[in-house]
Amino acid sequence: MNNPFQNALAQLSRATRLTSFPPDFLERISHPDRQIRISIPVKMDDGSLKVFEGYRVQFNNARGPYKGGIRYHQDTDIEEVKALAFWMALKCAVANIPMGGGKGGVTVNPKELSKRELEALSRGWMRAMSDVVGPQKDVPAPDVNTTPEIMAWMADEFAKATGDTTGAVITGKPLEVGGSEGRGTATAQGGFYVFEALQEKLGLPTSCRVVIQGFGNAGEHAADIWSKAGHKIVATSDSKGAVRNPNGMDIAALYDHKKATGSVVGFVGGETIDGTELLFQECDVLIPAALENQIREDNASRIQAKVVFELANGPTTPEADDQLFGRDIPVVPDILANSGGVTVSTFEWEQNLKGEHWSEADVFTKLKDMMEKEANGIFEKSVSLKTDLRRAAFVIALERIQNAMKL
Ligand code: GLU
Repeated sequence: MNNPFQNALAQLSRATRLTSFPPDFLERISHPDRQIRISIPVKMDDGSLKVFEGYRVQFNNARGPYKGGIRYHQDTDIEEVKALAFWMALKCAVANIPMGGGKGGVTVNPKELSKRELEALSRGWMRAMSDVVGPQKDVPAPDVNTTPEIMAWMADEFAKATGDTTGAVITGKPLEVGGSEGRGTATAQGGFYVFEALQEKLGLPTSCRVVIQGFGNAGEHAADIWSKAGHKIVATSDSKGAVRNPNGMDIAALYDHKKATGSVVGFVGGETIDGTELLFQECDVLIPAALENQIREDNASRIQAKVVFELANGPTTPEADDQLFGRDIPVVPDILANSGGVTVSTFEWEQNLKGEHWSEADVFTKLKDMMEKEANGIFEKSVSLKTDLRRAAFVIALERIQNAMKL
């Protein structure tokens, strides 16, 4: 089953079998509040007109404005955006930030667009959405293939459409236009705080061999943060292929290689291998940091990691979860592991609303406290319910959302 929204609903039903949530609440939380589809016309550089399909799914706002990124990907569709919006609602509840869940997207391969076309597309998305988003309504952010610069174009477009220049409509902006210190590395940094809180509890050694799938915003910063903390990055990949070195790779040199060639493939400090083999490398921690549905029923038996740590959204299907649980391989779920990104996004929103600018030290101190607290709470819940970390995280998130909906 590879429809991400069906997977999300399967996760929901598995988690709620353990506790007694009222059926009416479960029925409500299985459906988004609103699904918006737009056509975005873009005048291309060759003079032709192309119309792109864009989306925003507003899943649940019981705990605060809808919150979640905008994804640009050729395979993005409304079902994927719906699943991602659902996970955002749970993620914000797990992180205990005052936000609901939403997500946006455009079906496009942004690598095929010129910068001018990309700007026109991004401004077009925001222009069409400017009446449904807003600092108190719905606050987008970056996701796969969307950057701080795109957030700046969108913030500017929203200001033009509404006159609101606070920037609080969107997070992940560059520092110069109201971005927060630490937002660029927050997903990986928050993940690292979660990892450190759970490392001993999950039986991991002090220095781990780490495999990272994906070298985008989450993966590349994770490589840097984990390696600087004394762990070895023994393999990593991007959409073009993978590299491995059982002795650990020099991450600074790998960055230089990626910058020069556009890929990790061909890095001299490692051996280039087929991208499909990356997940099955022997390691202590496997960090999927790319897309959904990577660890599935048909390949989960080949995973050789001691722990799976989900920096991506939805990388493990429910069937694979069962197999890993059966083999005593804990999965630290996305809604906890990658919640640092949206947490610092919320700090950014708060700073914009108050006209403040916090130091990086303040941002990370606050983030660390929050991540440790929620990681420990979820671990304890998994012990008391005798279940996996994903079900425990779902139960905690659903309790928080349900309380808010009741109130
Ligand atoms: N796209 C990120 C996520 O999936 C960040 C969302 C946000 O900052 O609102 O969590």
